[in-house]
Amino acid sequence: AIAVLGSTNMDLVAYVPKAPRLGETVTGRAFRTVPGGKGANQAVAAARLGAEVVMIGAVGADEFGVRLRAALTSAGVETAALRTVEGASGTAHITVDDEGANSIIVIPGANASVTGLEAGDDARIGAAGSLLLQLELPLSAVLAGALAARARGVRTILTPAPARPLPAELLAATDLLLPNEHEAAALTGRTDPRRAAEALLQDVPEVVITLGAAGVLHAVRGGEPLTVAAPVVQAVDTTAAGDTFAGALAVALGEGRPMPEALRWASAAAALSVRRRGAQDSMPTRAEADAFALT
Ligand code: ADP
Repeated sequence: AIAVLGSTNMDLVAYVPKAPRLGETVTGRAFRTVPGGKGANQAVAAARLGAEVVMIGAVGADEFGVRLRAALTSAGVETAALRTVEGASGTAHITVDDEGANSIIVIPGANASVTGLEAGDDARIGAAGSLLLQLELPLSAVLAGALAARARGVRTILTPAPARPLPAELLAATDLLLPNEHEAAALTGRTDPRRAAEALLQDVPEVVITLGAAGVLHAVRGGEPLTVAAPVVQAVDTTAAGDTFAGALAVALGEGRPMPEALRWASAAAALSVRRRGAQDSMPTRAEADAFALT
């Protein structure tokens, strides 16, 4: 099984010809509400790919909370450890213009109430093969999760997004750091992914940097970095590509597949997700990922 300790947000997406400047009002083209949040996205990705997934986090006592939980449940994610807390669910207010460029305001809402583990979470993490973590919950919760996993011999996979300086304690409890190239650069001040990986290996034993259409770079301490190319696809919407990759990688590693094979399979799953519009909706099923990985 895979445990995810992370955020659940409703994405409120306004499609506009051009984003408004400060003080300006523009007429948009359309509005959509879409379940998201990096934690929930990674959980859904792994569940659609056939894994047993437990989501730990919180939604608000509002209509969004009901829908966010339902989206997870319908993807097959176990939500008994997803608390409903007073107040608003997390929301992301997203403006997408005709060029596809976006600007985003995230209001953590219920996610901010997750400051540590609660009764039963330790056991849920201990029963999993991997714990997926991101940085959309308070750092105290991320750290508590990582330490609980470490104490029980559970692999920790940390997506350091949104990028921010990471405390040494958290890095010390991280088995695999999984930034995209922008996050890797923000963490290290090095824009060359190979050099960024080298710097990150000072703090964690293993790094996978996702490079968008250029694939991924894998590096372990004392080894030669390895690049895995991404399958060539017509990219329609890269939202949640990184989350799909993270979920898929956890699934493949959980099945005991060797890293190079796991990276290729996760790349196939992530590539499939960019061929379709949406976040959780665009994530491939097990059958789709297996079939595409063979092509
Ligand atoms: P994020 O979604 O966090 O910005 P990336 O853009 O690096 O992360 O994408 C994550 C992974 O998704 C990539 O490593 C790759 O496997 C896959 N991916 C993203 N964009 C494309 C693309 N245009 N074609 C094929 N695969 C892609």
